[in-house]
Amino acid sequence: MPTHWRDTVALDEQQRLVRESIRDITADFDDDYWRERDRKAEYPTELVDTLGEHGWLGILIPEEYGGVGMGTKEVAVMMEELGASGGGFSGPQSIHGGIYNSVPLIRYASEELKAEVLPGMASGDIALQSLCLTEPNAGSDSTSIETRAEKEGDEYVITGQKIWISRVDHSDYALVMARTTPKEDVEKRTQGISMFLVDLDDAYDQDALDIERIPKTASRPVHSFEMWFSGLRVPERNLVGVEGEGFYQLLDGLNEERLAIAAEALGLGFAALESAVDYANERVVFDRPIGKNQSIQHPIAEAYARLRAAKQVTYSAADVLEDVDRTEAGARANTAKYLAADAAFDAADIAVQAHGGFGVAREYDVERYFREARLTRLVPITQELVLNYLGNNVLGLPKSY
Ligand SMILES: Cc1cc2nc3c(=O)[nH]c(=O)nc-3n(C[C@H](O)[C@H](O)[C@H](O)COP(=O)(O)OP(=O)(O)OC[C@H]3O[C@@H](n4cnc5c(N)ncnc54)[C@H](O)[C@@H]3O)c2cc1C
Repeated sequence: MPTHWRDTVALDEQQRLVRESIRDITADFDDDYWRERDRKAEYPTELVDTLGEHGWLGILIPEEYGGVGMGTKEVAVMMEELGASGGGFSGPQSIHGGIYNSVPLIRYASEELKAEVLPGMASGDIALQSLCLTEPNAGSDSTSIETRAEKEGDEYVITGQKIWISRVDHSDYALVMARTTPKEDVEKRTQGISMFLVDLDDAYDQDALDIERIPKTASRPVHSFEMWFSGLRVPERNLVGVEGEGFYQLLDGLNEERLAIAAEALGLGFAALESAVDYANERVVFDRPIGKNQSIQHPIAEAYARLRAAKQVTYSAADVLEDVDRTEAGARANTAKYLAADAAFDAADIAVQAHGGFGVAREYDVERYFREARLTRLVPITQELVLNYLGNNVLGLPKSY
């Protein structure tokens, strides 16, 4: 499928430059590369290093800290390209944390912390790829986290358990969310949570951090971990922003991140669709290409229509996100994530069906896209929680929890 089938939204010169640059880079990382990374569950280090050399890991970091100082739409373009190139969800996910963990640092960290990490993040010399929020006893109810950070002199002491934390094995630092005031003692449950920049080498040196990888089937090149913090001592200067306001700091920028996730799902969906179209044109059964059969052609075309529509919603949201109020920004970003994840899933599903038995053969990649497309409906927020947002905050329906 010519890539222009995907080029359905208006981009300015800078955004086209991002697209062409990422297309050039990803041309060296083909389906064989991704198939092998998936089979071996191996991080795409070569791709990430190349993106770092070209400055793309600092896409959101201001120029004064060595980044390129671009915005949400440019990130969406980059992430879609990384997915559509054959990287699927794993391609963009391999760098996602590093891109978005820069946001609260830029907005809230002290100058000292910014100077310590942002230039290195932009060049790729420092990896701050992990955000540690989710906990086993809280799940989607993230303000119920139980990890505690107790102030002792000029340090905080962090104790607690995290789960499903991505890229810890490829991170020098992590952002850790912990309660500095128990939930029972705050007026609103969103209060009393703080954000810390944790030096992971220091944590291992203190013998205050254990991690264990969670074996999983989707997005295998990007690993997820359980983490146990046991009395980790973090200097006070590593508190990011204001004590007790970490959850608000995290929410600030969340809508932009959600659009990036939508773009990642779109890239994956387009990759699956491209495989479906190629195979439907090539495979001959009953003396005709299977793509002549409307039972194959129509679902492929329908998946394309859904991807196009989700792409329109995603990119138009990126254009206006800063000009609309918070609820409307949330509505647009959540709608984009919801539609993109479902559109990617539909595209991957028809891609598997069109391949017949080869739909489950590793060599055709569509089974990999299918596994990854299923994951996009679960992370970073489940489809149900997105619908809760739209139902409660936009439509005024009663909250069920
Ligand atoms: C591969 C992967 C990578 C991840 N990376 C990170 C990371 O880097 N950092 C991090 O902090 N977290 C990470 N997560 C965690 C992720 O954000 C959570 O898995 C996700 O938010 C869902 O939480 P849960 O798994 O606990 O599901 P649960 O909250 O247990 O939900 C289970 C099911 O119940 C539904 N449900 C629950 N409550 C409601 C309700 N009120 N209304 C309707 N439906 C409801 C959910 O939609 C879901 O279908 C990752 C997860 C995965 C799988």
